[in-house]
Amino acid sequence: MEYVSLYPNSNKKPQPDKNQNRSVSRATAHSGNKNHYKRHHRYLGFRLVLVILLIELSLCGGFMLGRASATPYIPPSFQTSQTGSDSLSENKPTVSLTQPTSTSTKEDWNLILINRDHPLPEDFRIPELTQLRNGHAIDKRAYPALQEMMDAARAENLDPLICSSFRTWDKQEELYQNKINSLLEQGYSQKEAEANAAIWVAIPGTSEHQAGLAVDIVDTAYQQLDEAQEHTAVQQWLIKHCAEYGFILRYPTDKSEITGIGYEPWHYRYVGKEAAKEIMERGICLEEYLDVSP
Ligand SMILES: [Zn+2]
Repeated sequence: MEYVSLYPNSNKKPQPDKNQNRSVSRATAHSGNKNHYKRHHRYLGFRLVLVILLIELSLCGGFMLGRASATPYIPPSFQTSQTGSDSLSENKPTVSLTQPTSTSTKEDWNLILINRDHPLPEDFRIPELTQLRNGHAIDKRAYPALQEMMDAARAENLDPLICSSFRTWDKQEELYQNKINSLLEQGYSQKEAEANAAIWVAIPGTSEHQAGLAVDIVDTAYQQLDEAQEHTAVQQWLIKHCAEYGFILRYPTDKSEITGIGYEPWHYRYVGKEAAKEIMERGICLEEYLDVSP
């Protein structure tokens, strides 16, 4: 409903045509020329014709204005506004895409694309979260699947550990800034550090962690966030089975150019079973699944 305010609120009304009154008063003034009839009858004849013409024009004009008033007069400026309104209404479907309809909400919330080119919408509301152990949290709707996946991994005598989950904006900002600082210490320029940091820590507003749909899971036996994580027993199992629970390995090594994020064999994103199955089976990334070019 707030989008209504986007539309121009023009109260411009048709302006009365002043020419109408002017024409009538001019006609009345000319009618006084009858007093010169005897001395200037030729001239008067001419004036009479003129008066009649003026009266006719006046009446005719009034008639036309009367008819015109039946159809609302739209000043040019208002017509421009209406064009603006039309173009805004063309934008409406785009807006409604970020506000899924009741029939598609169920499918869309888990497929929201968040990356450097698709930051969280300004009106994004943090979903209801389920608190996990060690202060972690995840979108309540994704929680049962995560719990199931963790239980299944443990049933295989594995020891997965969630080391990151929902993040507030401040937390994401802090992580991003820390990464920049560490790169600055390594001798990078400010510009280089910012660009490089974004490959490893999403710029605030562009992290799936902020949406409560992502978790970083490591093997308790090896908790480093580096490529070697891929070879741990936990990651081997997760990469093979995560889709069964609706999760995907979000940043595969060969998709960095598309995702904009370096290989992270620990970051799992909930997308739902159907999408997860297709994404993992086809070896594509979420951007490709959603057919969104970077
Ligand atoms: Zn992550």
